[in-house]
Amino acid sequence: MTSSQAALEAARCLYCFDAPCIQSCPTHIDVPTFIKKIYTGNLRGSARVILESNILGASCGRVCPTEVLCEGACVMHEKGQRPIEIGRLQRHAVDYVLDREIQLFHAGTPNGKRVACIGSGPASLACAAELAQAGYRVTIFDRNDVPGGLNTYGIAAYKLRAHDSLREVEAIRRLGVDFRQKTEVGRDVPFAQLEQEFDAVFIGVGLGETWDLAVPGENLIGVCGAMEFIEATKLRSFAEVQVGRRIACIGAGNTAIDVVTAAKRLGSESVHLIYRRGEKEMPAFRYEYDLAKLDGVNFHWYTQPVQIIGEGGRVSAIKCVRTRLEPGSGRERGKVGPVPGSEFEIAVDMVVRAIGQKPVTDLFRAVPGIEVRDKGTIAISDQYQTGAPKYFAGGDCTNGGKEVVDAVADGKSAARGIDAWLGRPRARN
Ligand SMILES: Cc1cc2nc3c(=O)[nH]c(=O)nc-3n(C[C@H](O)[C@H](O)[C@H](O)COP(=O)(O)OP(=O)(O)OC[C@H]3O[C@@H](n4cnc5c(N)ncnc54)[C@H](O)[C@@H]3O)c2cc1C
Ligand code: SF4
Repeated sequence: MTSSQAALEAARCLYCFDAPCIQSCPTHIDVPTFIKKIYTGNLRGSARVILESNILGASCGRVCPTEVLCEGACVMHEKGQRPIEIGRLQRHAVDYVLDREIQLFHAGTPNGKRVACIGSGPASLACAAELAQAGYRVTIFDRNDVPGGLNTYGIAAYKLRAHDSLREVEAIRRLGVDFRQKTEVGRDVPFAQLEQEFDAVFIGVGLGETWDLAVPGENLIGVCGAMEFIEATKLRSFAEVQVGRRIACIGAGNTAIDVVTAAKRLGSESVHLIYRRGEKEMPAFRYEYDLAKLDGVNFHWYTQPVQIIGEGGRVSAIKCVRTRLEPGSGRERGKVGPVPGSEFEIAVDMVVRAIGQKPVTDLFRAVPGIEVRDKGTIAISDQYQTGAPKYFAGGDCTNGGKEVVDAVADGKSAARGIDAWLGRPRARN
């Protein structure tokens, strides 16, 4: 967006009282105020309004499903007009300060308390930024080589490049937050050490690897998980990324859509999305699906894989069966069953699993008081505190997998929970 395009778009906003766009944002960014500041040319002030509510305002301006959040709630819909482009305006304002390395926020006066954050994804980053400004010394432990969690490694590069994620991380580092990468808590750092060295611990470990398909042939060369596939597109130049000529992706969530869209854009000739339910039941957002349709992806509804076929150890085809839905009872979704004799094969040289991520929270079962539920999410109170008082948690590891903006909102709320639990310590001036 150029400055004049941004000013023109900002001029369309009605600056609604009780604005629905604010209510629909999990971090409650004061949208009309930041838009007004863009209109008056005060980009620095606009960015401040955004970042005070959401320290990852730059990445959220790129990856948020605005169609179902702020822009979906914009009153312009009622007037039969297109909604204000809140996401693009937000990106315009925050990029202005990040491009110029303008530091809007600073570390608070040290209050003598230390907090550890496990994981360096959006949840921990938001928690750390909030606490650092309140005077806490925060150390982030992350097992990856570089920080940022899925913002750096997992979200499709056409939405958010690793470089943009790391730029935001740097702004948080400048608040005095210490990052210890390649350090896995539970393995490299025991819980006992964390508890001894820190006054509180925030758990923001997200989710892990993609679930297996549990069909024969899964070990063939050319079969991979969605995370592995996307990670390569984020951390290498596009020319270096190896994509299949003919790809099948299993699943129909937003991750699957990211995979097929990226594959098409990286030059795959034929891309197949395979889903055992129908188009109506697909979990992906509608606008993401529309994007994939425009890119020419082949959708196979009511279809599920039964075998991956190989030649010389490499994938050569995927064998599928048609499915049908049994009617559901009450609120329960109908079960999916195979249609006998309907098997068929699609010739492919790559199969990507995109059927959700496994939890990584098993290790917390060793901490007395922390409840890890059956599906692997960590149970927390309204203050984001676990059953072990020193431990707070938020983000995908507590909500089972939502959006970046939800993780940011959780991290911020958990920081406030930690601050309240530690008695709101403030240094005396
Ligand atoms: C493929 C994909 C695409 C997505 N696209 C979008 C999108 O377009 N828009 C959107 O809003 N959301 C999207 N999401 C969701 C979004 O990325 C997540 O909701 C968000 O990143 C969750 O943040 P988090 O901090 O909870 O976890 P993560 O971002 O997963 O960060 C967790 C961090 O914890 C670290 N960790 C785990 N265990 C340990 C340990 N024991 N010790 C140390 N470190 C550990 C991990 O290495 C990781 O860095 C997508 C998710 C996926 C998988
Ligand atoms: S709802 Fe739309 S018009 Fe109203 S303040 Fe929000 S962005 Fe502006």
